[in-house]
Order: sequence, then structure tokens, then C-alpha cells
Amino acid sequence: MKHTAYIALGSNINPREEFLKSALQAMAVHEQIAISSVSSIYETEPVGYLDQSQFLNMVCKVETTLQPIDLLLELQRIERELHRTREILNGPRTIDLDILLFNDENIKLEQLCIPHPRMEDRAFVLAPLQEIAPLEQIPTLKTSVHDLFMALPERLRKGVLLWKQQKQVEEFVPFEN
Ligand code: ADP
Ligand code: MG
Repeated sequence: MKHTAYIALGSNINPREEFLKSALQAMAVHEQIAISSVSSIYETEPVGYLDQSQFLNMVCKVETTLQPIDLLLELQRIERELHRTREILNGPRTIDLDILLFNDENIKLEQLCIPHPRMEDRAFVLAPLQEIAPLEQIPTLKTSVHDLFMALPERLRKGVLLWKQQKQVEEFVPFEN
């Protein structure tokens, strides 16, 4: 598969871990997507719209033959299958799937921005991402993921708690039905 992408997963409607697993499963069974690594799961405070439950967040690395827009469409299909609705901006969600990085591309379309525009401010994205890709460079910022994470205020870094440690991809991703 010729492209490498990093995808952020988030859920704050129960069963949160099941929604993360189901999204990974849906990606893993897709013919044009292969998951090559997954981070641990972190528990995080909501950002933006605060009157909602805590999130579980994680990041996975995928190899894909899909173009960026087609990858986005597939992720949105998976969100719909997992009953994602959009009633409140930044509000509660069964699953949110965002493309963080796609190769070292810089994409600015109406429906797709890569690198993800707010990733550098988000400890709940950078903590899991730096676990699996600390040296990855953010093309627009010319900084590594690790350095970006360390540049966040301590208050934000400490707000992201390790919830379930990830040891091996096989433990987490059921590749068969
Ligand atoms: P958010 O992820 O900001 O909480 P949504 O999941 O509802 O909100 O996404 C809003 C829109 O963001 C989507 O309709 C999608 O077209 C757009 N978008 C722009 N860039 C990206 C990206 N890198 N990954 C995922 N969605 C993106
Ligand atoms: Mg999203």
C-alpha cells in the first residue's frame, strides 16, 4: 500500500472502548486500508464544549491505497455506521475519526485539511501520536510530534491520562470477524 496516514480516534458515548475497537475493526477489514500500529488508549477532558463526558482517545497508523478524500469518505462512512450524529459542535460523539497526517502532504480543501489544523494544540491527539510516531515531522510546522507535545503547557499534558496500555497490535485489532 503506497500511502501512510495517521488517524485520531475519539469517543465519549458508552461503550467508548467498543466504539474505538469497532472503528479499528472496520478500517482493518477494508481492502484498501491496513493498520500498521495503534497507540494506547488515553482518557481526556472534553475540549470546546465542556458539558459532556470524558473522552477515550487513541491514534492509529495506516497504510492505504486510497487518496486522501477517499480515505475521509471511508472514515465518515464508518462514523455513520457507528451512529455518529452531529447535533452540537464539538459535542458528544460515539466516534470521531480525523486524519492527522497523510504522507508528508499539505492539503487545504474545503472538506479536508491535512495536517489536521488543530492537532498542535491538542494534548489528546499529541500524547497518543507521540507514543507511536515521536519523530514524525509535521510538514507545515517543520517540528517533530515529540517536540510539539513537549511544547504544550504542562496543564494540558497532564490532563491526558493513560487509560489502557497498548503492547501489540494483535492484542487490540481483531483482524478476523
Ligand atoms: P471535529 O472532528 O472537528 O470535531 P467533525 O468530525 O464533525 O468535527 O468534522 C467536521 C468536518 O471536518 C468534516 O465534515 C470534514 O469534512 C472536515 N475535516 C477537515 N479536515 C479534516 C481531517 N483532516 N480529518 C477529518 N475531517 C476533516
Ligand atoms: Mg472529526
